[in-house]
Amino acid sequence: MESSCIFCKIVAKEMPASIVYEDGKCLAFLDISPANKGHVLVIPKQHYVTLLQVPDSTLSELAKTAKKVSAAVLKATKAKDFNFVQSNGPAAGQVVMHVHFHIFPRFKGDGLLAGRLNRPALVYEEGEMKEYMKRIREAMQ
Ligand code: AMP
Ligand code: ZN
Repeated sequence: MESSCIFCKIVAKEMPASIVYEDGKCLAFLDISPANKGHVLVIPKQHYVTLLQVPDSTLSELAKTAKKVSAAVLKATKAKDFNFVQSNGPAAGQVVMHVHFHIFPRFKGDGLLAGRLNRPALVYEEGEMKEYMKRIREAMQ
């Protein structure tokens, strides 16, 4: 655990998050500033900064989790398409220095460029985040 890392704090349950999936190695939760509603971040519980630091065994667990979460996001949002994005280092746009995969649903004409947040993030209405969390959790079953 890295004391200044917000994602480590989410793992430690010291900071609230809308968690949609959790197992021994991975955690998945809603992004608070979604590219589209239902945007999920999948992280290893252990603190690694970039993809290159993640041990292969953890990476394979993360990939399997990310695939399951992607299917659940599609089911929950009724989207057919999604982006799977991962940034390494500041020049690549990484802001939170705890490695993470972005999964967000895509809709025809939603105005996003492939895998890029080229417009302001959306804002969840009151209670909406909880609703998406519930729907994605259910879709994970
Ligand atoms: P990146 O630019 O790839 O590092 O993405 C970091 C993502 O983390 C952004 O999309 C943020 O909206 C998201 N984020 C930052 N803080 C939180 C938080 N406390 N809970 C959920 N998502 C967060
Ligand atoms: Zn961390």
